[in-house]
Amino acid sequence: MSNHPRYPDPVEYAATRHRIVINLSGGKDGLRAGAMAMDFARQAGAADRVWTAHASLGPMEWPAVTVDGVRWPSASELAAIHSRALGVSPERHIEVQRTREVNGERVPFDLLTFIAERGDWPWLGRARTCTGPWKTKMVYGAFTPQVRSLRRDLGGPVLIANVLGLRAEESPDRRNRAMWRRTTDNSARVVDDWLPAHQETTQEVWEWTDAQEHPRHWCYDSFPGARDLAGSSRCSCSTCTMANNRDLLLAVGRRPRLAELCALVERVRQVPFNPSITMSELIERSRRRDAPDPGVIVDEGEDFERMARSVHAALKQPPQWESKARTGTGPAQIVGGCDGCALSA
Ligand code: SF4
Repeated sequence: MSNHPRYPDPVEYAATRHRIVINLSGGKDGLRAGAMAMDFARQAGAADRVWTAHASLGPMEWPAVTVDGVRWPSASELAAIHSRALGVSPERHIEVQRTREVNGERVPFDLLTFIAERGDWPWLGRARTCTGPWKTKMVYGAFTPQVRSLRRDLGGPVLIANVLGLRAEESPDRRNRAMWRRTTDNSARVVDDWLPAHQETTQEVWEWTDAQEHPRHWCYDSFPGARDLAGSSRCSCSTCTMANNRDLLLAVGRRPRLAELCALVERVRQVPFNPSITMSELIERSRRRDAPDPGVIVDEGEDFERMARSVHAALKQPPQWESKARTGTGPAQIVGGCDGCALSA
């Protein structure tokens, strides 16, 4: 799909959309972009057409923690809190998570189970195996019933703005992203990715978040409530294969059981977790004196236990994919950073 031929006036653009879908990860950037989109929608008299969506990665996301009797919400919970802070009613906030049928029953399907079954990590290959099917496609599918009924009423395609928190400052790839980009154009729906906060700096986003007194995820700080931004630089999957080493060392310290599970997948499938460092090395480095202080250690919940059982079961079967990193049949591809993860910052 090509970029939008010209940048429209955002208020005029919002006025013409049948749905404005704000993607919220629980992180700072989706909230900032969402607030800007909501502002334009209000000026356009289109606030009642704004919805929010959170594509949950389940136990791979940062979970809730309780410290000194204070509970700090999970990424999913924070996405719902952010939705309300934007003025979107709970009925118009959608949370989607991938499921599949096992023995006649629909059960959650986790990213790490998928990786264990496939025998390959998402940094390999040109097509990112974690963002498209686990996020973009899930949100797209969640709106299909609405699209069907709206299309009948409209007698034509439903015009949808897909609001994302991507910003130019994050990476060269994101700098080159257009503020609008048409991603779907068919008889049912016309969808544009819209990046209202594209030109905002990280500092501006944090200043705005603090000035508005919006809650932020605990993972950004050295410990929950520290408000020092000395924690993780992103609120994404805790052990994102494309995260920087400091974020990964913090994640290993904060979620040691998740790190061990990733190391097990790495060991059994013989494919490194990350192109520049293995999970086993990260675990070893996280124990050194110069490793970042995790500040808090997550007490994993039932959804993690379910994922662990299903990962162990998957590793008893042969891999479904011949990983190039395992077989050495060709060069491994790295797409770079976490750029493909539209909902992760
Ligand atoms: S945060 Fe990383 S691992 Fe998780 S979906 Fe995004 S790119 Fe994939």
